[in-house]
Amino acid sequence: MLTVDPWHWLTEDGHFLVDKPLLYRRMLRIARFIEYGGELQKHETRETLVECRRRPKGKPCSGLMWVVKTADDGILAHCMVCKTEEVFIHNWQKTEWAEGMMEPVPVEMGGPAVH
Ligand SMILES: [Zn+2]
Repeated sequence: MLTVDPWHWLTEDGHFLVDKPLLYRRMLRIARFIEYGGELQKHETRETLVECRRRPKGKPCSGLMWVVKTADDGILAHCMVCKTEEVFIHNWQKTEWAEGMMEPVPVEMGGPAVH
């Protein structure tokens, strides 16, 4: 299983490395796990809408990833269908996804124009 410190794949001020497509895609997946798992209490878990990317015997796994908050405040992402532990994330607490989804804002501040 991979252990990830997200700060290795972010800029110093916590943004995606958008000019490095491979690291960007990897970090985007990590950020989703942080967003789902950051607010969990220790020993809690929840299902995500992140698809398992394993291909056992050449066929895509049908599972969705689950995140677990571990006793040492890490986030473990695993798939219950193919029984794979994909990644353990530590040092995530100061990333911008740590407190879950962004708060709703009025459309004028971020959305498309509404007519
Ligand atoms: Zn799977």
